[in-house]
Amino acid sequence: MNLAIPFHLENLIGGNFIGPLSGQFINNINPATAEVYGQIPNSNEQDVQLAVNAAQKALEEWSNTPAEKKFIVLNRIAELIDEHAETFALAETNDQGKPLWLSKKVDIYRAAANFRFFATGALHFSSESHAMENTAINYTLRQPVGVVGCISPWNLPLYLFTWKIAPALAAGNCVIAKPSEITPVTAFLLGKICAEAGLPAGVLNILHGDGPSCGEAIVKHPGIKAISFTGSTRAGEQIARIAAPMFKKLSLELGGKNPNIIFADCNWEKMMETTMRSSFSNQGQICLCGSRILIEASVYEKFKTEFIQRTRSLTIGDPLEDSSQQGAIVSKVHFDKIMNCIALAKEEGGTILAGGNAVQLQGRCANGYFIEPTIIEGLGPDCKTNTEEIFGPVVTLQLFTTIEEALQLANATSYGLASTIWTQDISKANIVASKIEAGIVWVNCWLQRDLRTPFGGVKNSGVGREGGWEAMKFFTEAKNICVEF
Ligand code: NAD
Repeated sequence: MNLAIPFHLENLIGGNFIGPLSGQFINNINPATAEVYGQIPNSNEQDVQLAVNAAQKALEEWSNTPAEKKFIVLNRIAELIDEHAETFALAETNDQGKPLWLSKKVDIYRAAANFRFFATGALHFSSESHAMENTAINYTLRQPVGVVGCISPWNLPLYLFTWKIAPALAAGNCVIAKPSEITPVTAFLLGKICAEAGLPAGVLNILHGDGPSCGEAIVKHPGIKAISFTGSTRAGEQIARIAAPMFKKLSLELGGKNPNIIFADCNWEKMMETTMRSSFSNQGQICLCGSRILIEASVYEKFKTEFIQRTRSLTIGDPLEDSSQQGAIVSKVHFDKIMNCIALAKEEGGTILAGGNAVQLQGRCANGYFIEPTIIEGLGPDCKTNTEEIFGPVVTLQLFTTIEEALQLANATSYGLASTIWTQDISKANIVASKIEAGIVWVNCWLQRDLRTPFGGVKNSGVGREGGWEAMKFFTEAKNICVEF
């Protein structure tokens, strides 16, 4: 199997790698060096049509493939990702800017885990029956939706791409998938290993391109019956606008502005160490990062002093170096957005306690997009800095004195994705957890993931849940059959 990365990436349609019909390409840039190191197809509705044709052709066979055979193929994909983990990790880092050690430890490891998990899902998925005493029995068939669309973002490229594709395939669907145009390479490599693993042609079609041209063409196509989307709330709105009147099944995993609530009685060292990760992992570009840190007044100064000290000691460097704790921001556009957010925070009256500046590295990464991890204080809950998603290495500090005040601050945004609570008092944790407006609550931990649990947000953070049976249910249609005795 050839996993060399060509300068021009191609779409995977019906088992063949082909260029875009329009001949249009987009530059692919390494954010750590600012170098154009490849081009990807900017696919449009014609390419989507080809992919839908291929998927429809493959659907009959794949949807009727025995679960055990699906398990073998999906599990083999997981094994092949593991076998080529080094190649995948390097590709992810060059595309995205995250430290190579992080790509290996988190992104690629988890991409394989997604396939392994949903491979067994194919074996274990079952449906309900409801008996009516001496009258009738209902049984529910859960049939594949058909051809489905999966669209994913750039922050955890292969990790989130596979989180959608694996359950869609396990449930017996054929897939048209689009990775972010900013981080396309690992999706391209995944296409290469799928054929090797025995996935029949046309079952998974991977199209590259930007949102308006390729993404919207997928959402609009009447032959694509469900859309699973992860990305910004803005794009989610646009997708809902198109797909809702077509009555497509929709799963929307959108933005966040997550609170990290620290009570004085927490396990301090564990909280400090985890808060560093929940603030700045992947340069703060994880939808689950706790970007609003809420601290009980009695420990505010202690927290502030230690947090500033630890933040200033983070090593920003070449993502290929093991010593780099912070890598590059994903693109120039996103770099500019984050720097504008920092400028806005100052205009709003915020004080920069640490960071706040772009970083110019020496050597290979001299032109890359690097920003210091940044801490801001002195802003109230209603300003833009504390209500709008920044999605970078930028956190704010706010203090509270009572549980009620902590909850008020925590719930003071239009988002509701994730939250973290730090306390040794289990009753307090349970009360706050039950009242917080979020789909995911971590108590005394962060990013602890069990793939069986429902994953998703409330309010403007999305609609629907992924993970475990939730994903298998999303990718199937329930049909109830009632048989009278
Ligand atoms: P984005 O919305 O710009 O793009 C996401 C994907 O959607 C890309 O593949 C893009 O090409 C495509 N797209 C964009 N506009 C589209 C349109 N009109 N129609 C169809 N497809 C379209 O998001 P991004 O900048 O890549 O990612 C960052 C965002 O993703 C942040 O808001 C972050 O919070 C969110 N995110 C959410 C989760 C979650 O699980 N809730 C996970 C990761 C990232």
